[in-house]
Amino acid sequence: MPGLDEKLQLIYDTVLRRNPGEKEFHQAVHEVLDSLRPVVTKHPEYADAAVITRLCEPERQIIFRVPWVDDAGQVQMNRGFRVQFNSALGPFKGGMRFHPSVYLGIIKFLGFEQIFKNSLTGMPIGGAKGGSDFDPKGRSDGEVMRFCQSLMTELYRNIGEYTDVPAGDIGVGGREIGYLFGQYKRMTNRYESGVLTGKGLTWGGSQVRREATGYGTAFFVNEMLKTRGESFDGKTVVVSGSGNVAIYAIEKVQELGGTVIACSDSGGYVVDEKGIDLDLVKEIKTERRGRISEYAEARGGAAEFISGRTVWEVACDVALPSATQNELTADDAVMLVKNGCRAVGEGANMPTTPDGIKVFNDAGVLFAPGKAANAGGVATSALEMQQNASRDSWSFEYTENRLAEIMRNIHDRCAETADEYGAPGNYVAGANIAGFIRVADAMLALGVV
Ligand code: GLU
Repeated sequence: MPGLDEKLQLIYDTVLRRNPGEKEFHQAVHEVLDSLRPVVTKHPEYADAAVITRLCEPERQIIFRVPWVDDAGQVQMNRGFRVQFNSALGPFKGGMRFHPSVYLGIIKFLGFEQIFKNSLTGMPIGGAKGGSDFDPKGRSDGEVMRFCQSLMTELYRNIGEYTDVPAGDIGVGGREIGYLFGQYKRMTNRYESGVLTGKGLTWGGSQVRREATGYGTAFFVNEMLKTRGESFDGKTVVVSGSGNVAIYAIEKVQELGGTVIACSDSGGYVVDEKGIDLDLVKEIKTERRGRISEYAEARGGAAEFISGRTVWEVACDVALPSATQNELTADDAVMLVKNGCRAVGEGANMPTTPDGIKVFNDAGVLFAPGKAANAGGVATSALEMQQNASRDSWSFEYTENRLAEIMRNIHDRCAETADEYGAPGNYVAGANIAGFIRVADAMLALGVV
């Protein structure tokens, strides 16, 4: 990785020393520190109050045992995490991820990114993340329920409407939030709707929350395209993943006139030159909890499944990495650029490696980093919290308009901040600096805490 400014390098060295082996966390911190060089020069007051040093250390980290009994009567044991990173702007806020790859370094990278993302939304929410190395794949509803209940039996004492508000992420959707909320309600004897977001519509959830991350990513990329006098209309789009983010990114891109020709899962990808049949993807992925290879089987000769390869080898105008971290490498970026890709929007968190981002920047590709492009999910979670606080529920149309406006504002703030700090067109710098300044100013105001 390229060198940092001297003061920032000292902070980074401390992060490396304090968090050994947590390479995803190191990567996330390095990217932000790299963007902050012009900020520390212009604003010495942040260094004087050790704001950056404090930002890199979570306010609280909780690790706990999650024992549960599987359908065969065997006792299983997983590890649960909640990293409460920063609460200067509001209660800790961020999703829970259930995936076998989860360890402290993943949760810390996600929690760190969440601080800046949540700040960029302009809403009153701090940054956090949690999860478990539990693998929901192939588990029955009963097993998932018992796991969620066990996890919440420990987590409940650490969260609350004014303290920390978890939500979903990879492996945690409406079903899991339901089981978690049910157990929280039982443990506390309170119907505290604002303690979790991503709830179902009949029990305190918000319209558009399910769609929000994917829709928001499409809105953001649409704003970027507008700066070059373009739109999704007539564009060929490739999306990685086929989970919640990917599905609703595809839906909105299609509404905006683009043609999504490929999507994927961990087994490989499908190409459907006429355009992905989204109802079929939804049926396979959300109803059957199946594999994307089933899509090609169902479409007969119209679509092809390519096993074990990445979707980035498919030529496209726009790429939306919406699966997981570090899924798009420098080699993939070179291939995309060579095939004519002109815009990239990160639906997932940190899906592009640092070298990959450099390839896009050098080639003049519009690049929207996840903390800006996928902020629509958490922003709509904040709208859900607003509705819960006022015991109200808004219409789909009203909520979607609020989301679109928030995404436009995030886009404009990133673009203006990049200009102001001498990096025009660099949305990574714009997002990191704009996100940082709002949190840093709040931390200065709150004193040394
Ligand atoms: N997991 C989502 C994210 O990465 C949403 C978090 C939330 O709604 O709190 O931003």
